[in-house]
Amino acid sequence: MRPTGPAAAALAALAAAGALSGCGFGGSERPTITDNDRLVIGVKEDQPGLGVKDPDGTYEGFDVDVATYIAGELGVPPERIEFTTTDSSVREDALAEGRVDMIVATYSITAARKREVTFAGPYYVAHQDTLVRPGLPGIDGVRDLAGRRICAVRGSNSWRRVIEEREVAAVPVPHWTYGACMNALARGGLDAVSTDDLILAGFAASYRSARIINDPFTDEKYGVGVRKGDLEGCAAVNRAITRMYQDGTAERLLRAWFGGSGLELTTSVPQFEGCT
Ligand code: GLU
Repeated sequence: MRPTGPAAAALAALAAAGALSGCGFGGSERPTITDNDRLVIGVKEDQPGLGVKDPDGTYEGFDVDVATYIAGELGVPPERIEFTTTDSSVREDALAEGRVDMIVATYSITAARKREVTFAGPYYVAHQDTLVRPGLPGIDGVRDLAGRRICAVRGSNSWRRVIEEREVAAVPVPHWTYGACMNALARGGLDAVSTDDLILAGFAASYRSARIINDPFTDEKYGVGVRKGDLEGCAAVNRAITRMYQDGTAERLLRAWFGGSGLELTTSVPQFEGCT
């Protein structure tokens, strides 16, 4: 006898949903970036060496190249990638709302962010350091930032590392991007910008008078953000990152973008965090 009544209707609805999504009851019904034939990828637009939007609208930098490599490994060629700007303040929402499929934007893996985002990687481990306004003496370590005006980029973790984690009583001055921080520093509106050494190295090339104090005090594990729960996509990105190191691409890109910076570059594959 065929089942009838509400239970049968519910079964039929479930079966239809399974058929429509093409994955039946046994398969994964969660969307994954491994199914994408196009990718919208969030990067930075004003961080030299990492993510810069050129006047013609194209993007360039280490993060852009890493993202392009990963997309290629996922079967998406450059002409089917759309890059878009994701400032630090919008990264979690951009993923949750589906405005981007993936983020490669100096995006540190942190416990708080892991609650909202699934992170592949890290694809690189940077370290927080501090760049000081030209001519300002007496700042040789993070503790010397007490009473000094530091840039507080909205949505970024760097100023929190100083004020909340290290409990150094610096004065946070809010800005939207690290590019804005550097402009403020150049105008004398800030005493220091404390953030990842890769970011500072990129800026230091154009702000030669500013001084990096060379007192790294954190590990910033740069992750590839995907929508929360896309574990299949995360695993595929991790395979791509492993290959990027094994085939020499990571070393080539690091040297191309940061070879002249004086930074000690790590060219072995980082320890992955695990996809959660
Ligand atoms: N990596 C740090 C972070 O994710 C600073 C750079 C940034 O905000 O993009 O908070």
